[in-house]
Amino acid sequence: MSHAIGLRCTICGAEYDVHEVDYVCPKHGYDGILDVLYDYEEIRRRIAPEALTANSERSIWRYLPLLPVAEETARRLAEGTVLGSVGWTPLYPAPRLGARLGLRNLWVKDDGRQPTASYKDRASAIAVVKARERGAEVVTTASTGNAAAALAGLCAAVGQRTVIFVPRTAPQAKVAQLLAYGATVLLVDGTYDQAFDLCLEAAEAFGWYNRNTAYNPYMSEGKKTGAYEICEQLARQTNWPAPFRAPDVIFVPVGDGCIIGGIHKGLRDLAALGWIEKMPRLMGVQAEGSSPLVDAWERGLEGWEMQPVEARSIADSIVASLPRDRNKALRAVRETGGAYLRVSDEEILAAIPALAQGCGVFAEPAAAAAYAGLLKAVERGLVSPEEHIVVLATGSGLKDVASVMRATGQPTVVAPSLEEVRRALGVLAG
Ligand SMILES: *Cc1c(COP(=O)(O)O)cnc(C)c1O
Ligand SMILES: [Zn+2]
Repeated sequence: MSHAIGLRCTICGAEYDVHEVDYVCPKHGYDGILDVLYDYEEIRRRIAPEALTANSERSIWRYLPLLPVAEETARRLAEGTVLGSVGWTPLYPAPRLGARLGLRNLWVKDDGRQPTASYKDRASAIAVVKARERGAEVVTTASTGNAAAALAGLCAAVGQRTVIFVPRTAPQAKVAQLLAYGATVLLVDGTYDQAFDLCLEAAEAFGWYNRNTAYNPYMSEGKKTGAYEICEQLARQTNWPAPFRAPDVIFVPVGDGCIIGGIHKGLRDLAALGWIEKMPRLMGVQAEGSSPLVDAWERGLEGWEMQPVEARSIADSIVASLPRDRNKALRAVRETGGAYLRVSDEEILAAIPALAQGCGVFAEPAAAAAYAGLLKAVERGLVSPEEHIVVLATGSGLKDVASVMRATGQPTVVAPSLEEVRRALGVLAG
C-alpha cells in the first residue's frame, strides 16, 4: 500500500482511482497528463518530519511514505541492489562560484553522482518498482539517452527486461550504457519526438509497461525527491531549526519539463504538509534552439495550446520539439513566480568548465545549462545577493565528452623529456 490515493487531470481536473487509469486522462489522451494525489492529512498524522529525516537510509527510499509505490515491493527490490543507491546526491555550497557572481548563498546539487549518472535515475527507480507491482514482463521507454540509461541500468539491477527507443543521434556514452546493461536497443532513425510516438505505439501493441515521460504520471513522483533532498540538505547545512528549509530560487534545465514539474510537486507536497514555509521561485532554463516552453511562457499559452517546433542544441538531453510534460512545466514556473530563460549553445559550452573549475562539479551540456541560466538571471537582476540559490546539475560530463572537448580545447602534447616540460610550461605561463 502507498499513500497515493488518486490521479487528477492537469487539464480538466477529473479525478481517477489509481486502479482505474494507468497513464493519461481518458478524456484528453496524450495531453491529459495526470497529477498523483495523496492524503496529506493521513500522512501528517502518521509521520513526523523529524522522524522522516532521522532515517538512516541515504537514498530516495528514505521518503518511501511519500512515494506512490507499494512499500514492501520497493524495500525488497532496493535492498542490496543499485536500485537502493538512487538519490541523496550531494548539495555542495559553491562560495567561489557565488563570489564571482556577487551571490552569497549559492549551492550546486550534483545528480551526475547517480548510479547511471543522471537525474533520470529518480524517475526510472519508480518505474522499476511499478512494473514489478504490475508483474510486467517488459518495461519500455523512449529517451534522448539518459532516461533510457537509467531504466536499463536499474532494470539490470533487479533482472527486469527492457526495450529502449533512442534517436540515432544520441551520444555514444549513453548508447554504450544501454548495450552494456543488456537492454534491447532500437536506434530510431528520426528525432526523439518520433522515437517517443513509436514507443507509445509499440507499448500498446505488445502490452509493455511504459515509463515514458509525462505519459506515465509516476515519473514526476520520482523526480520530486530532488526537492525533498534540497530542502532537507539545506536545513542541515544552514542549521535551520526545522527538518526542511526551502531555498529562494532553484535553477532547473528543461527539455520535456518533467524535472521542473517534479521539483514543483515535491515542494507542493512539503508545503501541503506544512513542512516548508514558502515556495522557491523555479527558473526553467532551455537551450535557445529548443525553447518552446520559453515561448509559451512569454506568450501566456497553456501546455495544450502548444505546437511542435524545430528543435536542436548541443545539449541533447534538453532537446524536445513538443515538451511532453508541458502542462506541469508551465505551471511550475507560473505558480512560483519564477521565469523561463534561454541560453545559447556557446553559453552552455562555456558553462561546463566554469562550473567544473568553480566548484568541482563536472556536468554534461544540459546540466551546465542550468548554471548558464543562473548567469543570465544575474545579468537581468532576477536574483539578489542574499538569496539562497540552488543550481541543479542534472547529469555527468562523462555522458558526452565530445561536447566537453569542444569547450575545453585540446591539451598540450610533450615528448617524454624534462626539457620539453620546461618549454611547454614556459609557453603556457607566457
Ligand atoms: C532529461 C534531462 C534534463 C531535462 O529534464 P526534462 O524532464 O526533460 O525537462 C536535463 N538534464 C539532463 C542531464 C537530463 O538527462
Ligand atoms: Zn482530462
